[in-house]
Amino acid sequence: MARTEVKALEATGSDFSTFHRTVIKRRELRPDDVAIDIKYCGICHSDISIVEGIDTLFKRPLVPGHEISGVVSAIGQNVNNFKVGDRVGVGCFIDSCGKCKYCRAGEEQFCEKGVISVFVGDDYDGNPTEGGYSQSIIVKDRFVLSIPDKLDLAEASPLLCAGITTYNPLKRYGIKAGSRVAIVGLGGLGHIATQFASKMGAEVTVIGHSESKADEAKQFGAKAYEILKTPADFDRLNGHFDFLLSTVAVKLDWNQYFKLLDVKNVFG
Ligand SMILES: [Zn+2]
Ligand SMILES: [Zn+2]
Repeated sequence: MARTEVKALEATGSDFSTFHRTVIKRRELRPDDVAIDIKYCGICHSDISIVEGIDTLFKRPLVPGHEISGVVSAIGQNVNNFKVGDRVGVGCFIDSCGKCKYCRAGEEQFCEKGVISVFVGDDYDGNPTEGGYSQSIIVKDRFVLSIPDKLDLAEASPLLCAGITTYNPLKRYGIKAGSRVAIVGLGGLGHIATQFASKMGAEVTVIGHSESKADEAKQFGAKAYEILKTPADFDRLNGHFDFLLSTVAVKLDWNQYFKLLDVKNVFG
């Protein structure tokens, strides 16, 4: 089967405003592939960072987007866990070897053959992959996630990157009822992390830099909102938290932030 043409939005320069309509080609449907009509795609800060690197790092126009939600339009002959019409999502990866020790352990991001990113990379056939700012995409079935009917497709889309990025550490480190959690930042990741942690029963404090976000933090479930500037501010919350999740893309003074942690929980 020939590669199919798909309409897309392509960034052509390092300014995020330099998007143009274009036509890209998707790979043919393999036996274990799922074809998805894209309905929504979030804008993650990584998309912005990558677009900013087009001129110097990538030196080619590209189609970003890795928070994809949509509806299955076709399935390969070996796919039995999805059917046409299913509501699904796709995050950062669309393929891996499926055989190496990392793939077998569910750690496909370390695939020995090289995991295939949804964009900014080449498929195993050597063709460049392009992301979700497009009409449709083809993905290996194990990288497709079901989206429940009661979850709006537009609202589900940011969960595919911002959501998993914050859910994973909270889950991995056993956040539970009564955990004292500090979330640094209340942007794209921070507002989701705050909701996850508070729904897990944790006592959440958001550490921000603007008083204007205090109400928002509480609406998302935080018990407290703190602005920490001086060493005295940090001393005041010395040993106050079991877990600290930074969601900000700025350099922090970790010597100060580590003081916020309860040492007995850090060292077991
Ligand atoms: Zn692998
Ligand atoms: Zn992302």
